[in-house]
Amino acid sequence: MKKIGMIGGLSWESSQVYYQILNEKVNEALGGFHSARCILESVDFGEIEKLQSKDDWETMDEHMAEAAKNLENAKAELIILCTNTMHLCSDAIINNVGIPFLHIARETAKRIKATGLEKVLLLGTKFTMERDFFKDILQDEFGIRVVIPNKEDQNLIHNVIYQELVHGNIIPQSKANYQQIISKMIKEGAEGVILGCTEIPLLIKASDVAIPIFDTTRIHAEAAVQFALK
Ligand code: GLU
Repeated sequence: MKKIGMIGGLSWESSQVYYQILNEKVNEALGGFHSARCILESVDFGEIEKLQSKDDWETMDEHMAEAAKNLENAKAELIILCTNTMHLCSDAIINNVGIPFLHIARETAKRIKATGLEKVLLLGTKFTMERDFFKDILQDEFGIRVVIPNKEDQNLIHNVIYQELVHGNIIPQSKANYQQIISKMIKEGAEGVILGCTEIPLLIKASDVAIPIFDTTRIHAEAAVQFALK
């Protein structure tokens, strides 16, 4: 079994879910007392959030590259960056280590492709919804159409992530607001919804929506296990 390197703390609320899934999936595959070989480089989200609000991606590239190098030095054999948004720094990671990097959008796209759905809704931080780093992989590499909510709804989705979910606060009204936005987008033709922020699965479950969900935390963690056991 390969040793999985996780860059976490983005936020730690979702890193702990990753850790749980890695161990559950390894145990499911190998049985007995087996658990995941992994190492977590957990950053201070307080520092990162400040840099995000200043749009200082150069400094964040440096932080992510350093975290990745630390994992490689600790003998990790693959890296997962346990957040969607920070995949804006993926090139900095890829260019600074020699071990494989499993991109969250690519793993998600493979799952969507396997279902045959053609048009999906992407929910995440404003960075993930507005910028191209996530959407381009789905659209250009996999031919999957990606739609995003209108500006007002994007703000709501984003604020719930930063003001509630990364602090571990699960608020029923926010769940209802998310459900309403998803329903609106279903009417506009969305066939599936990507929970494209690793904390959204804390709020929205498959049974909360009428279309298939793609939980990026679970998909990414499961892909890491599959790679580690290959
Ligand atoms: N975990 C979140 C994501 O998947 C947001 C927090 C962050 O900015 O990393 O995008």
